[in-house]
Order: sequence, then structure tokens, then C-alpha cells
Amino acid sequence: MRVLVTGAAGFIGSHLSERLLARGDEVLGYDNLNPYYDPRLKQARLDKLLPREGFRFVNAALEDRTALDQAFDSFRPQRVVNLAAQAGVRYSLENPHAYIDSNIVGFLNILEACRHRHIEHLVYASSSSVYGANRKLPFAVEDSVDHPVSLYAASKKANELMAHTYSHLFNLPTTGLRFFTVYGPWGRPDMALFLFTRKILAGEPIDVFNHGKHTRDFTYVDDIVEGVIRTLDRVPGPDPGYDPLDPSPATSTAPYRVYNIGNNQPVQLLRYIEVLEECLGRKAERNLLPLQPGDVPDTYADVSALSRDTGYAPSTPIEVGVRRFVDWYREFYGV
Ligand code: NAD
Repeated sequence: MRVLVTGAAGFIGSHLSERLLARGDEVLGYDNLNPYYDPRLKQARLDKLLPREGFRFVNAALEDRTALDQAFDSFRPQRVVNLAAQAGVRYSLENPHAYIDSNIVGFLNILEACRHRHIEHLVYASSSSVYGANRKLPFAVEDSVDHPVSLYAASKKANELMAHTYSHLFNLPTTGLRFFTVYGPWGRPDMALFLFTRKILAGEPIDVFNHGKHTRDFTYVDDIVEGVIRTLDRVPGPDPGYDPLDPSPATSTAPYRVYNIGNNQPVQLLRYIEVLEECLGRKAERNLLPLQPGDVPDTYADVSALSRDTGYAPSTPIEVGVRRFVDWYREFYGV
């Protein structure tokens, strides 16, 4: 299968590309290698992929319609996974335009490109942050997500709405995956595990928001990639719950799905830090701080829908996943 993967130099996209190549798919990676975090890390991920047979790469932005159209027309993908986005909740407070450019304009360009080329299936990254101020745990896809508390979350919710209209109007099969705090080797330098590791090894104090009391459904990257591939392979048909006498958005004829993809095992931040300390063999000096604006107190994924439809079954406990991250970090940075 020919799969176009946007964000292929990113954390999840590079792991996904590797796994697709390993099973014999052809992959076109598409990424603008933007400087949101150290582009050398993105380049290093890419350097692993470039020699692989079946991999090609385009360095361009989703907003560049000419480059995107050329990529689609020269590679002729059958399926598309859109992971390229401006990520990060806190960054969205001060840099709102980056989210509109990449996540709204860029996503529209992807939808248009897919629509006009009759792409078999578009899978795209949504986020657990869409649940926002929702306090009902675990989060289920049926729960209302009308109260995102950051522009990042709003842009991801907007993606789901935009995908719905394209599925509905143009019969484009789309599946949104709401990722829950993904971690693992080659992870993102702006995320807690990476930040904490760097600071603990440097003997600096770590900032622990919400006094470490909040819980996160930390999900190991291999489990995420397994779920993305299972999802990609299963093209959605019309929603079986559709009632023709009640054509409301909730009961749509569109080949449209949204799923949670998480670990289904929330862990308190303080416990996550303890596991990291054990793996590093060092204690962290904790700088306890209040909850940050835009952050949600707890996340917990109900993954029953994805498990039912694809057999998704996350299997990596944090003790194993954090150890693998630390091993990678020490080797990559030589510390
Ligand atoms: P990442 O930042 O490592 O990867 C995103 C990649 O997309 C980067 O390499 C970046 O250069 C590229 N990119 C960004 N904007 C672009 C644009 N306009 N045009 C072309 N390329 C662009 O992030 P990640 O952690 O791998 O996340 C992948 C996706 O999953 C993102 O959509 C993110 O919002 C979503 N997500 C991630 C998490 C997580 O915990 N990592 C949680 C929820 C959702």
C-alpha cells in the first residue's frame, strides 16, 4: 500500500513510518521540519528513515498547496495519515496563529487533496485535550466535547468537525484518533518525560504542575502505532447507528469515525516521576506549582470502541515504557 504520512519527521510519525515500511508499505513522508523544538532531533529521526527502501520525503508545509498537490500527484497515495500539526497546549496561549496555519488551513488542504483524489481512507490525529473541562471519567467518544480550554484543543475539535463535513458531503472515509499523552524513545523535548529527564540528569529542579496530583493516561508509542495501523487498515463504512428519519450530526450517513486511543490506565504524575527516578537512579528536586491555564486535571481513555472495531489492546506498562525512553535518551545524548 502507498501511504502518505504527514509529520513523518515528528515523534509519532517517524515511528509509524518505520512500522509501515517494515510491513512492506511504501511511505511518502511530508514535514516542514519546523523549529517548534530542536530540528536536529527531527533530522535524526529522518536520517534513520531516508536509507530505507520504499521511503521518500518532501520537506514542505501543509499550507503550501502547490507542494502538497505535487506530493499527492507524484506519489499517488491510497491512504493518508495526517499527523503534522502544531502540537502543545501551553505554546498555544502565546502563539495562536501557528495553530490556525498548520491545524486549520493545513488540515483543510489535506481534506481538499484527499477529496479530489478519492483517497480510500484519511486517518488524522485528534487529541484527548478536546475533552477540556469534561470531568466525567473515563472519557468516552460519546461525551460532549464542546468546552475545549486551549486553542490547541479547539483546533483538534475543529478537525473532527471539518472531517465530518468532508465525509458527509464527499463520501471521504475519515477516522480521527484522540491520542492520550504519548511517550517513548525519540519523544518530544517539550513533553514532561523529556523535560524531567534532561533536568534530573543536569541536577536541576523540575517544575511539577498541579503539585503532581493530576493523572494522565500515558500511552507508549508502540501501542499508539499499532492502533493507528489497525485503524488505517479498516476503512469505515456509513455509521451503523444511522437513522434516516433523524439525520442529525450524531447519526450520520458519513463514513466517519472518531476514537480514543490511550492506555486505559491513568497514572498520577507523581508516580510517573517516581518510575523515572527509579530508571535514572537519581532523585528529582521538585518545584511544586499550581495547575497551568489550558491544562486539564485528569485524562483517562475509554478505548472500548477502538478495541471492539480493530482489536486494539495497549500492552506496555509505564515501568517498561519509561525504561525504554531512558535507555534511548542516554544512548542518543551520550549521558
Ligand atoms: P511532533 O511535533 O513531534 O510531530 C509533528 C510533525 O509535524 C513535526 O515534525 C513538525 O515539523 C511537522 N509539522 C508541524 N506543522 C507542520 C506543517 N504546517 N506542515 C508540515 N509539517 C508540519 O508531534 P507528535 O507528538 O508526533 O504528534 C503528532 C500528532 O499527534 C500531532 O497532530 C499532535 O497534535 C497529535 N497528538 C500528539 C500527542 C502526544 O502526546 N504526542 C497527544 C495528542 C495529540
